[in-house]
Amino acid sequence: ATPTAIMAGIGNASRKGILIKSGEAMEKVGRIDTIAFDKTGTITNGKPEVVEIVAVSQNHNEDSILLLASIAEKFSEHPLGKAIYAKAVQKSLAVSDPQEFKIDLGLGVRALIDNKTVSVGNYKLLALNDVAASEEIKDIVTTYESQGKTVMLVAQSNAIIGLITVADRIKPRACETIQQLKNTGIKDILLLTGDNRNTALSIAKQVAIDNVYAGQLPQGKVSVIEKYMKENKKVCMIGDGINDAPALAISNIGVAMGALGTDIAVETADIALMSDDLSKIPEMLMLSKKVLSTIT
Ligand code: ADP
Ligand code: MG
Repeated sequence: ATPTAIMAGIGNASRKGILIKSGEAMEKVGRIDTIAFDKTGTITNGKPEVVEIVAVSQNHNEDSILLLASIAEKFSEHPLGKAIYAKAVQKSLAVSDPQEFKIDLGLGVRALIDNKTVSVGNYKLLALNDVAASEEIKDIVTTYESQGKTVMLVAQSNAIIGLITVADRIKPRACETIQQLKNTGIKDILLLTGDNRNTALSIAKQVAIDNVYAGQLPQGKVSVIEKYMKENKKVCMIGDGINDAPALAISNIGVAMGALGTDIAVETADIALMSDDLSKIPEMLMLSKKVLSTIT
């Protein structure tokens, strides 16, 4: 494409809220054949809400579990952490500060509260602290997950005290967008998520994404992208979080969903979408194809 066509394309895109950072990206995005979507905040709204709190310890009730979890998550920037904190505030619980806290990307948070370790996160996080879940707890978790909900386990010291389930809405135009992408010749559409397999499968099914890679830490998302790139696929990764930044960097084209996008994701990406509207993705492809068609 001519430099003039590329410049014009970048200008057109920016007026539509699609920020293309280089001429190279403007051309490359029209040639992709594989799109990998992050789940939370990309396919879903990324504004999960607490739907249920289940106490699994005699010494705790819903509120005491929510309180401990919200103290642990008080400074978390993760949508799941924010959902827990918001629920506690809504219930007028007095959420004090944790003595210490540590975020484990893709796993959850660990905090020190009243000199006891409180963990909020998935099985992998609990395993790090040598906390095991009973079959009974695992069954409850699986049931919620199969409904597309995400379950966080709450542990104090070495025992699970409760479960917090959250639900996140699928974005309004997700189904249409996936269908449109399939129609415009995108061969493989993938869902990459740190969330568990059951939840991921349920969400993927609802939007007709066929390839699901669940339980992926940031580096795992990179490996999936690399696998496709080794097969000579031209891969576009679309994500919004810190946990997506390495995958955005390695892919042929990285696209950050802007409105909710963390700074690091936006910085690493080749293209930033200023809104969280998924229909910008087929639009972005069309604009690039138009620019490419000026090659003679
Ligand atoms: P995604 O790839 O869907 O954006 P993440 O990689 O951010 O998801 O998170 C993966 C999983 O790690 C979550 O589903 C949850 O189980 C756990 N997790 C991550 N951050 C937190 C947190 N702040 N509090 C509790 N659990 C968390
Ligand atoms: Mg995300």
